[in-house]
Amino acid sequence: MKELKKYLLLIHGGVGTILKENMTSAKEEAYLEALERAVLAGEAILKASGTAVEAVEAAVMMMEDSPLFNAGKGSVFTHDGKNEMDASIMDGNTLNAGAVLEVRRIKNPISVARQVMENSTHVMLAGEGAEQFAKQQGHKPVDSSYFYNEARFQQLQLAKQSEEILLDHSGENKSMEGNMENGGRKLGTVGAVALDVHGNVAAATSTGGMTNKRFGRIGDTPIIGAGTYANNNTCAVSCTGHGEYFIRHVVAYDISALMEYKQLTLQQAADHVVHEKLKNLHGEGGLVAVDTKGNYIMSFNTPGMYRGIATARNKCKVEIYK
Ligand code: ASP
Repeated sequence: MKELKKYLLLIHGGVGTILKENMTSAKEEAYLEALERAVLAGEAILKASGTAVEAVEAAVMMMEDSPLFNAGKGSVFTHDGKNEMDASIMDGNTLNAGAVLEVRRIKNPISVARQVMENSTHVMLAGEGAEQFAKQQGHKPVDSSYFYNEARFQQLQLAKQSEEILLDHSGENKSMEGNMENGGRKLGTVGAVALDVHGNVAAATSTGGMTNKRFGRIGDTPIIGAGTYANNNTCAVSCTGHGEYFIRHVVAYDISALMEYKQLTLQQAADHVVHEKLKNLHGEGGLVAVDTKGNYIMSFNTPGMYRGIATARNKCKVEIYK
């Protein structure tokens, strides 16, 4: 019998106070469908023996194109009423990586991050320079109206009133609950990790950051080692949550380092970082990760995380709550 080639893809669409009682069945359905579309887009590539890098890019692009998630089209607003997006990608086979920061007119920041990785000698490009590079690579800038979303705009007004900088899908402000279409507290950064049939892993993450952010604030998402990391010797990780904590703990790389230097399993390493290190500092968040043996984890210290998985053996599965 021909052996089934092993592949695996995991995605997340953000963490937060995502509770079933705050969801309508129509919204739940919309999220599950959007997650499934993203998983299937990535899986189709892995099934056809494509690379992990191609698969994570495809899955993330699908979520960037959905208004339901805080990335690409659904990005949250800054204090000044703009959208500033960050994204990064890493190839575990070569340790090559690419990232864009604070881009405003790019429809799919993850694709430009991949082009930074593959078509430039740099790892991180920011702002105007990143936009120029994107143009050179053939991306047509989109008008800022492409990112406009009334619910997001209202979310900004509430955040301004309370002078808070909010994690899209979270925050303690009760007044935000029920006030927002699309469930203002329940949207989030997107990411994917994959193991391909060639035995390589990759990770990708994309975000609009935090509502009401200002002064060019950047979170963990575009920082290799904090929000995204991939290494064939250990694992591939994509994070979501309160970026400042993920940067301080160098979360994605920490998981890899615990595996490499302490010989922890992926599960042990992720449990330690998400449920002890981050939680002790009230660092709200979660992650998806996979290693080259096909072990995987979806770990979060919040009530919910939008997530999905597909493997060569099992059909695509998507989930929201704990
Ligand atoms: N990690 C992202 C940031 O801090 C936010 C998120 O995951 O929703 O920018």
